[in-house]
Amino acid sequence: MEEKQIDHKEEREIDKVLTEPGTNTNLEQEKRTDSSNAEQGDKPPFWFEIEGRIPGKLGRAGTIHTPHGDIQTPAFMCVGTHGEVRYVSSEQLHSISAQAMLSNGYHLRNKSPQIAQEGGLAAWSGWNGPTLTDSGGFQVMSLGSGIGKVVSMDREKEVVNAPEKQRLAIVKEDGIEFHDPLTDADDFIGPKESMEIQCRIGADIHMAFDELTSLADSYEYNKEALERTERWAQISLDVHKEHRDDLGYRQSLYGVLQGGRWEDLRRSTAKKLGAMDFDGYGLGGAFLKSDLGKILTWCNEELPEGKPRHLLGLSRPDDILIGAENGADTFDCVAPTREARHGRLYTKYGFINIEKYAGYDEVIDETCDCPVCQAGITKDTLRALLKSPDPAEREKYFTLASIHNLRFTIRLTEQIRQAILDGRFEEFRDQFMKDYYSYSPKGAADERNVRKTGAELQQTKGNTK
Ligand SMILES: [Zn+2]
Repeated sequence: MEEKQIDHKEEREIDKVLTEPGTNTNLEQEKRTDSSNAEQGDKPPFWFEIEGRIPGKLGRAGTIHTPHGDIQTPAFMCVGTHGEVRYVSSEQLHSISAQAMLSNGYHLRNKSPQIAQEGGLAAWSGWNGPTLTDSGGFQVMSLGSGIGKVVSMDREKEVVNAPEKQRLAIVKEDGIEFHDPLTDADDFIGPKESMEIQCRIGADIHMAFDELTSLADSYEYNKEALERTERWAQISLDVHKEHRDDLGYRQSLYGVLQGGRWEDLRRSTAKKLGAMDFDGYGLGGAFLKSDLGKILTWCNEELPEGKPRHLLGLSRPDDILIGAENGADTFDCVAPTREARHGRLYTKYGFINIEKYAGYDEVIDETCDCPVCQAGITKDTLRALLKSPDPAEREKYFTLASIHNLRFTIRLTEQIRQAILDGRFEEFRDQFMKDYYSYSPKGAADERNVRKTGAELQQTKGNTK
């Protein structure tokens, strides 16, 4: 096929989107408010208010107030594992109304003293908005039982743990011993170390250190791991309390709920952790996609209503809809940006594979309000950038595609929020699902087939952050 030539007008539009974030979008700007200035008097530094509910369900819309600004929920947090979202600048994130960024304690652990010196994650990263860090437990455990391999498998029976000898991580009573494949050194992280690291990184919200099990682990092992996670939860709370004000603002801590796919384990841990002094809760663990709604219900029926809940590592539209309906307030996942880089772009009518769109002079999604679609950048152009032998051109594609997919996911949570506040969540959900999963533009058929099997495995902690 002949190499596509990008004309000057298009080139100017692309450069404008890449270099002047905010100017090409008709999104409402500055919805964020700085609660450090706005909140006075006896309001705590971190609090959650519920502003609307889905009648008869656990779902709600609200606002999480943090020292670095408010998060209107339901909300999607963009994943910047190392303190930045790959190929997307802080300005670009603000231009698509991103509200919060999630980074990882494991990946940032060696930089944490420097981050502390520079005033914490929000200032150090240049994002200057609300942030959350994951504990690093997932990353360390992934070295262990072979969880990384488990994530992508689509049949429960095929899930196996790596043989013990090949594991790079061993769970001990006070934490996890592991061999870091990057530095080739032995290392150790437990709840105490994780809290010290996270308090130096200084995100607004931290996650307690937990042990993630895999789908291959038995009920008995899950019970044992859960009891360890509950002991680690108390240590996390105690150590966190010592350091949470070290950087001059209050850092908050979420307890993390494990318990696999078992109702008794889920409910009992939700009760125990719910009675502890956490600021909110992370919902994690290994389970089948088809069990998501059920598991959220078990957890959220037991947790205190007035504290926010974060569903770890999911961003498929149906997962976000099920999550929001059953009481999850915030979400994160690497999928929108990672899939964008691999050519998978989201549209109202399902996803498309951009590589199949040579010669298509239309935008990715006519209904999309992202800066890329608003600037009229066509599928043909995006495909040409992705296919270009020039790395700088491909990098432009990575940025444009990531902006579009992130905006799609953020917009979905905004629409859910509005629908809850307007009392029409179910109507919105049904229409969205019909549009996204029923039509069949190129590529969307694959997504439907995945849904039909009902067996897509979910690992709700972070994928390969
Ligand atoms: Zn778009």
